[in-house]
Amino acid sequence: MDHLIPHYPSIRTSTAFARMGHVRSDKGWVSKQRQSPRAVFMVFVDSEPVLSHGSSAAGDATSRVAIEWFQADELEALGLESHEAFFLGNDTDDRPRFAFSLYGWFVNKSELRRSAFENRANLRSLAIDGEMSPEDLSTIGQAKALVHWNETHQCCGKCGAKTKPRDGGWRRQCWSCQQNYFPRSDPAVIMLVTDGSRFILGKEERFQNRFMSIIAGFVEPGESIENAVRRETMEETGIEVGNVQYVASQPWPFPHNIMIGCRGEALTTEFQLHDSELMEARWVDREEAKLMLADKHPEEIRVPPPISIAHMLISQFVDGLL
Ligand SMILES: [Zn+2]
Repeated sequence: MDHLIPHYPSIRTSTAFARMGHVRSDKGWVSKQRQSPRAVFMVFVDSEPVLSHGSSAAGDATSRVAIEWFQADELEALGLESHEAFFLGNDTDDRPRFAFSLYGWFVNKSELRRSAFENRANLRSLAIDGEMSPEDLSTIGQAKALVHWNETHQCCGKCGAKTKPRDGGWRRQCWSCQQNYFPRSDPAVIMLVTDGSRFILGKEERFQNRFMSIIAGFVEPGESIENAVRRETMEETGIEVGNVQYVASQPWPFPHNIMIGCRGEALTTEFQLHDSELMEARWVDREEAKLMLADKHPEEIRVPPPISIAHMLISQFVDGLL
């Protein structure tokens, strides 16, 4: 039977992880990957990934926390069926990778499962702790977004009937009206708004202690990225923005956003905090920002950690790159 299934080449992007989007609609191919003895599976319990200790899958000895990859027979012994796993893609050794999503109550029904999946952590704290390799964090982010989307799209938005997973979990189809649904990323803009040698930091009510960040907000339907930067900055700070440049982007799987990092040039300088989203806004120069990045600011103001695009934009500005 094997020879009837065509062999497809991997297409890799810079993440060194091939999503195989060009072949995952081939049901026979996906099912062959699931049954492959080389297939590996990661497990989420109540949206938290199961982790192992030791060097990461990427071989980065400095990372102390890594994804635990299970074999199909290990999972079968724990009462899990591999056909329920979602396809993530192929790793650099062309091993197919899959993700399972389980509920805590189901895991806790069996002592074997409970102890096999005991070591877990919240993705946000993993990202902030910095103890996991960027490759593993990125894999967890992709898997979590896919798993979350499948869990929250169980019914058809058009006729209300049940949907079924297709393409390894990258599409869902309504069994009744055949409508197709695809996973999506919600775009958000995050911007360094500059006035010559200064930029804006703001403090939202939910931020703890002396934590501040740059301005961010969702792109609304029918709106361009540039206009979202201008509108959000105006709504939150009262500052008018002229020229907008795209800098970089970052997937932000909480649960499925893509952060679009921009620089916006301010046309005005007086703050007006009228939408109550920000408690405080201030202009910060390079010297002050350098102290914040080093956690040495006299007012103990802290900025987002290195994993975030906000940190990258602030660092680039401090280094004179923006
Ligand atoms: Zn339907």
